Amino acid sequence: MLRSCRRAGPYISLLTKKGRTIMSDFQYDLLIIGAGPGGYEAAFYAQELGMKVAVVEKDKVGGTCLNRGCIPTKALMHSSDVYRDTAHGAEVGVEVEGLHANRKRIGERKDEVLDTLRGGISGLLKKKKIDVLEGTATISGENTVVITNSVGGTAVVTADKIMVATGSMPFMPPIPGSDLPGVIDSTELLDMGAEEIPEFVIIGGGVIGIEFATIYADLGDHVTVIEGMDRLLPVIDKEIGRSIKMTLEKKGVDVHVSSPVQKIEQKAAARGIANLRSPAKKQPCQQTVRCLRLL
Ligand SMILES: Cc1cc2nc3c(=O)[nH]c(=O)nc-3n(C[C@H](O)[C@H](O)[C@H](O)COP(=O)(O)OP(=O)(O)OC[C@H]3O[C@@H](n4cnc5c(N)ncnc54)[C@H](O)[C@@H]3O)c2cc1C
Repeated sequence: MLRSCRRAGPYISLLTKKGRTIMSDFQYDLLIIGAGPGGYEAAFYAQELGMKVAVVEKDKVGGTCLNRGCIPTKALMHSSDVYRDTAHGAEVGVEVEGLHANRKRIGERKDEVLDTLRGGISGLLKKKKIDVLEGTATISGENTVVITNSVGGTAVVTADKIMVATGSMPFMPPIPGSDLPGVIDSTELLDMGAEEIPEFVIIGGGVIGIEFATIYADLGDHVTVIEGMDRLLPVIDKEIGRSIKMTLEKKGVDVHVSSPVQKIEQKAAARGIANLRSPAKKQPCQQTVRCLRLL
């Protein structure tokens, strides 16, 4: 693959494993902003194609999925699964005395899993000679990115192609009271390890809400899920939403559907106690659900 260069200047010539030559007058053929699964997989692929690649990351390698998404939730779920199965072991003749969920250890193990996997991705990037540039990237020109690190240092990097793989941010719905103490998003919840939440209300019966409801209910907390649409998992097949509702209810989760939350209020002086009202669409009643934490 021989590409023409659009600018005069010092040429960096790369001879790839397959003997193809790439010539570029930029520091990199491809600069990827964001080292989440989108960014690092693209980097591996581009490197395989013989490009000189760098990834810019302002936080931790692995992005949302590894650091505050898919992986930490699955690590917590593994612990809560084992706890639930053991707690119900007597039904199949396996009795355990003094069973106890060590919430601190569950949180620590989750962090250990993340460290190991993060090390794996960093190791692969290093092995493939993909540069990881730490800092926040700002595209300042067609081929130029300015990177600012946490202590204010800056570097200007040039690349033939720039790929934006910056992911997304947690969305806080515009419900009055959502800025009250005790109202948290999924990132803050994961930062709490697996701390006990005796009364936990989750607004939103999508995949993430249901995953957290399952984890905390299996660990023994009282969980309420409130969904504005007429079923859980509203974007997936109807039957699945109904079946998940039954599964959650068997675990002791209170599930409210057709219940758009109107507002969140702090009613008592106790830490983080919030009340919310969720009038069901068909029966326009007002309902208040008490909680210690609200996701
Ligand atoms: C709680 C939770 C559970 C989830 N569970 C699952 C699951 O089970 N299965 C599943 O498929 N998906 C799951 N997801 C979704 C999954 O995490 C995302 O789809 C995936 O991480 C998107 O990858 P990405 O590379 O596009 O973005 P991200 O993973 O968000 O990575 C983007 C990266 O870009 C960096 N960045 C942003 N701006 C800049 C900048 N200016 N300069 C430098 N770096 C920057 C960020 O720090 C971040 O590391 C879950 C998400 C959450 C929140």
